[in-house]
Amino acid sequence: MKKDYRQEYELPFTPLTVMHEAARCLLCYDAPCSKACPAQTDPAKFIRSVRFRNFKGAAETVRKNNALAAVCARVCPTEKLCRQGCSRSGIDRPIEIGKIQRYVTDFEDACGMKILEKGSKNSGKVAIIGSGPAGLQAAATLTELGYDVTVFEKNEKCGGWLRYGIPEYRLPSPVLDKEINRIAQMGVTFVTKREIKDLQPLKSEFKAILLATGASYGRTLPLFENNKYAELAVDVLAKIKDKNGKISVPESVLIIGGGDVAMDVATSLKLLGSRSVTVVAREQAFEFPASSEELKAARENCVSIIDGYTPVSADGNKVTFKHVALDAGLTIKADKIILAIGQRADLEGFGVKAENGIVHTVGYQTDDKQIFAAGDIVDGDKLVVSAIKYGKEAAHAIHAYLGGKQ
Ligand SMILES: Cc1cc2nc3c(=O)[nH]c(=O)nc-3n(C[C@H](O)[C@H](O)[C@H](O)COP(=O)(O)OP(=O)(O)OC[C@H]3O[C@@H](n4cnc5c(N)ncnc54)[C@H](O)[C@@H]3O)c2cc1C
Ligand code: SF4
Repeated sequence: MKKDYRQEYELPFTPLTVMHEAARCLLCYDAPCSKACPAQTDPAKFIRSVRFRNFKGAAETVRKNNALAAVCARVCPTEKLCRQGCSRSGIDRPIEIGKIQRYVTDFEDACGMKILEKGSKNSGKVAIIGSGPAGLQAAATLTELGYDVTVFEKNEKCGGWLRYGIPEYRLPSPVLDKEINRIAQMGVTFVTKREIKDLQPLKSEFKAILLATGASYGRTLPLFENNKYAELAVDVLAKIKDKNGKISVPESVLIIGGGDVAMDVATSLKLLGSRSVTVVAREQAFEFPASSEELKAARENCVSIIDGYTPVSADGNKVTFKHVALDAGLTIKADKIILAIGQRADLEGFGVKAENGIVHTVGYQTDDKQIFAAGDIVDGDKLVVSAIKYGKEAAHAIHAYLGGKQ
């Protein structure tokens, strides 16, 4: 079937298929799926509600635990998380937890349910720097705890990599807009196009500050410095999202990297019309970091994937690779070379202790007790659902610091 970049790639469940899928659940007593969800979205509980046709109850469970549940339903690499824990795997195949969660959050949206609300007590003002998943979840949790939260975001729109990285065919912008609107309706103030460089001026106005600035910049390799054919994958993805897919694409593309970002840019360019897209990864096939869904989409769209090769030299648009284990080499020429080899943080100016883009924290608190940190800058885990877990836990750490009960 021909796919469109703007059309959601995975089809949703229907009322019939979601009931069929929920009926496969074994209703485990100690539910390993729930233990395996970093954000504690509690799939065992919401799937049980779906099984008994209690969709409202399911939506309440999902949303109370995860302020970005509709996003997670679409982008979580579930085979490494909740589905990996699913006991049904021992019989045939794990339950499609992400797709059930998507059905439940679509239902919540269709019914206009308002589940998250501001806490009644006036607990004071907290500032959050960065509106990616860590900042958004922290904003929701702190608001539920009664704080007045202001989120400062340097970009025009909120969402971090959810907005400017993950492609439209996996996470449609309207889904993200609704998630952010729900948080705004709780009473959170969003100040966009405001890059915070120095935290000192905020310290007198806000009782606590949470840094959630993520790893906002793509990494490059010395081999490709000043190479006019080379571009960073995250820059290409941001351009595609910004123009809603209306960009001219190169005929042939060589992508270096084997993670989700490499597969995202490969599939996006294929969907947008590039004739030949080749991904070359240092990892061998069995250790690919990209999720199975991402690999599936890339393969279905005829992306060529070559594993186990690392680049050793570049001459204009011609790149030579050598195999990591074998005595073998390979040279590929393409109109465009795209680097998808990871992201890095810029923590300069914040005055917090950090090493290699990771802020030094104890229980999310930095050396300066008024400043906390969460998301990609506290851990190299780099998943949306992990950023949500950190955002939630950091909010509770701030609450405890400000004298609230845990
Ligand atoms: C292309 C791509 C695809 C991905 N796909 C997946 C996926 O499918 N599944 C998954 O689980 N994870 C995926 N990830 C990883 C995931 O998106 C990140 O781990 C997650 O977004 C990290 O959240 P965060 O809140 O820490 O930071 P970010 O999402 O990076 O958000 C940080 C925010 O802070 C803002 N900011 C930075 N500095 C300042 C400043 N000085 N002042 C004000 N604002 C500032 C930034 O503009 C940004 O909006 C993907 C990442 C990329 C790049
Ligand atoms: S949030 Fe993600 S990991 Fe957790 S149950 Fe939902 S789909 Fe699974």
